[in-house]
This record gives sequence, C-alpha cells and structure tokens, in this order.
Amino acid sequence: MHRPLVVGNWKMNGSRSGSIELAGNIAKSFSAGEGRVECAVCPPDVFLADVAATLASSGVGLGAQNVSQYEKGAYTGDVSASMLAEFSCTYVLVGHSERRACFGESSSQVAEKFVAAQGKGLVPILCVGETLAERQADRAFEVIAEQLDAVVETAGLDALVAAVVAYEPVWAIGTGEVASPAQAQEVLAFIRASLGEKAGAMRLLYGGSVNAENAAQLFEQKDIDGALVGGASLQAEQFMAICQMAET
Ligand code: PEP
Repeated sequence: MHRPLVVGNWKMNGSRSGSIELAGNIAKSFSAGEGRVECAVCPPDVFLADVAATLASSGVGLGAQNVSQYEKGAYTGDVSASMLAEFSCTYVLVGHSERRACFGESSSQVAEKFVAAQGKGLVPILCVGETLAERQADRAFEVIAEQLDAVVETAGLDALVAAVVAYEPVWAIGTGEVASPAQAQEVLAFIRASLGEKAGAMRLLYGGSVNAENAAQLFEQKDIDGALVGGASLQAEQFMAICQMAET
C-alpha cells in the first residue's frame, strides 16, 4: 500500500498575499486531520519563502514547478536545484506538459532536470502524457514510453523508481475533461509494468482536471496513488477535499 500523495500546482497564479492566505488555509485544515495522505503545494518560485514560512510545521510539503538542469552560472532566469532545496522544497515538477509545449523542453532536457533535482536531494515528479492527437492516433503508450525512457537512459531505472511519476494527458490539463478512471488506470498500470518489479513501491499520480467531484473515483483505481492538481488546488477547500478523498 502506497502512502497517497496529492500535490497542488499553482502555476503562474496568485499574488504574494494571496499565496500566503491560500497556504495558511491549507495548513490550518491539514493539521486538523490525522490522515495518512501526504500533501504538498508548488507555488511560483518568488513566493516559495513566504509559503514555506506559512506551512512551517503544518505537515504540508513544498515543491517547485520547474528547475534548471544547470548547477549555476550564466543562465538568466533559471533557478537551480540547490536554490530550491534552500527554500525547503521536497518536490519539483519536471517535464510538465506546459514546459514541454510552451518552452520547448525536450525529453532529454527533462531528463537532465530530473538528474539535477535528485542530485540535490529533491524528489522529482516526472510528468508524462500524450496529446489528444497522439491518443487518437493510438500512440499514447509509445509517447509515454519515450518520455520515461529518456529519464531511464540518463538517470537510470533506480533513480526513476525513487521518484514520482504523474500521468497527465495533455488533453485533460486545464480543460475540465478529466480522463475516465479506466483510462487513467490503464496508462498508470502500463507505466508501472513497463518499469518492472522495482516500480512496485513507487507512487504514481494522475493529473488533469481533477476536482472534488471526480477525485474519489480516480483514487479507487489500483495504480493511482494520488493526484497532481492544477486549477482545483487554488481553492483551499476544494484542494483539501481532494486530499481527504485520497485517504483510504
Ligand atoms: C496541472 O497543471 O498539472 C494540472 C493537472 O492542471 P488542472 O488540474 O487544472 O487540469
């Protein structure tokens, strides 16, 4: 049995005061419960310090949405893994489809980011998933296998199974069109099987339009160990409702 993990991806939303307020509300309601679920939030980098201070000793974890593959130097605008570690980050998203699509991140660059993050003690949450066109062309498994293989080749299988993988179909992200529990389970089972025996203990998340109405059914699936939540993580009540549903 895996300890469920629910992670909120705030993306590029909110203000400094709004982030503190949101984190405060999540912290308050999380420490009120004694569940086994692990929950974490990924605010914009500029609010990490404020959110870290607000979450302190609440039990709610902190993560970042992106990381540089480089350690330091002339990489204007980038933030390194050691910088994120300094701000109490436990997790970092790598390969989110918005990074792949809007910023042209290739699978090999994502793999380098994965290695950089793990090298500084962060737990990468590797996001993988197919576009609608790829699904319709029956290429979902092929695309996901390529995204996983790039990390296995660069970081090694042991490194990947020590991390978290989130299946996030691109067509479900921010669209309100959640994958059916069966669709999500099918892909997550494929991911676990393709990584072999060592993947038995790793946590696999589903992400893509998860909300308080559809989370419970997703969490009933055998290979879904939690969720990566975008839009619904911007409201404390909704996010906490999802976290509670993961407590099984
Ligand atoms: C995400 O950004 O990772 C995500 C899953 O977004 P949403 O929940 O809004 O679809």
